[in-house]
Amino acid sequence: MKKIFIDAGHGGADSGAIGNGLKEKDVCLTIALKMRDYLNREYAEQIIKLSRTKDEYLTLKQRTNMANHWGANCFVSIHLNAGGGAGFESYIYNGKFA
Ligand SMILES: [Zn+2]
Repeated sequence: MKKIFIDAGHGGADSGAIGNGLKEKDVCLTIALKMRDYLNREYAEQIIKLSRTKDEYLTLKQRTNMANHWGANCFVSIHLNAGGGAGFESYIYNGKFA
């Protein structure tokens, strides 16, 4: 059974990017909650945990500590970058700090 940790970026006093009447922290949380619900509905063999389920501030260390102490197999941090560009980007930890 795999443990998937979903981190909704930003939160609380840290709004993240702001634009088009939206705050990144709110959109990240909405996506995280929908991801949790979808994965729980479609992939019951997975265990899902979220870094936050409400508008609260967590440090990056708190987020990674939560995932590591829980024994997460996968850590997904949701962000919506601003400042130009288009498309999708992902960063994958390769097991080494280079
Ligand atoms: Zn962000």
